Amino acid sequence: MKKVFIDPGHGGKDPGAVGNGLLEKNITLDISQRIKNYLVSNYENISVKMSRTKDQTVSLSERTNQANRWKADLYVSIHINAGGGQGFESFIYNRQFKNKPQTEKIRTMIHNAVMDKVNWTDRGKKQANFHVLRETTMAAVLTESGFIDNRGDARNMKDSSWLQIVAEGHAIGIANALNLKKKSLPDKTGRLYRVVSGSFLEEDNARKRVHALKRKGYDSFIVQQMSQKERYYRVIVGAFSQFENAENRVKDLKKDGFDSFIVQM
Ligand SMILES: [Zn+2]
Repeated sequence: MKKVFIDPGHGGKDPGAVGNGLLEKNITLDISQRIKNYLVSNYENISVKMSRTKDQTVSLSERTNQANRWKADLYVSIHINAGGGQGFESFIYNRQFKNKPQTEKIRTMIHNAVMDKVNWTDRGKKQANFHVLRETTMAAVLTESGFIDNRGDARNMKDSSWLQIVAEGHAIGIANALNLKKKSLPDKTGRLYRVVSGSFLEEDNARKRVHALKRKGYDSFIVQQMSQKERYYRVIVGAFSQFENAENRVKDLKKDGFDSFIVQM
């Protein structure tokens, strides 16, 4: 049994970064819950604990003490950036410590899995002297998923299907890092019907489609997909738990001149 401790940054009295009508503490909790759901529905022999499961104040030492007492195999702290910029970055502890090479390897797998899924700027693999990285006794990684004060990133953060993609990137990276075995039949819970309007080899063409959809009032975003060693850029126009709702979206798109199809993932 592998134990993964997911730490949604901030909470309760501490909102974290604030911007564009969003609070970091709410987004970190949303992404963390999605990571947990994806891991337990898709992989065997995994146990996931979270430092908080609702909007509550938890000190940094309480977070790391919980994980250390539980003897987690991996600690992943989820944050949202601010301060001018856009895209994704990840951190490990910046000093020397036992198993640093192993931690670096795990971080690289999580970082790359997120970058494989999400179409955004890679701000790099970084190191810092953060409490949650320093005071944990197991491998610990902190990620910053987009900038709350960047309009484009913030717009994506308001889209639950985008949050799901970010979470899946993290979950797949964690699963790769811990060598988790996929369930032969994944649980259906949490699976979504996604409406795809266009799959492109050229990122530019995907962007053009996003703009064309925007002009007709549809919010969409780009997801990267590897297929037969080729990278595709898929434009996602909504994700639904009910198939019927996805079908209705396809019909609306058709009326507006966009072909689309439904994928379950
Ligand atoms: Zn934060």
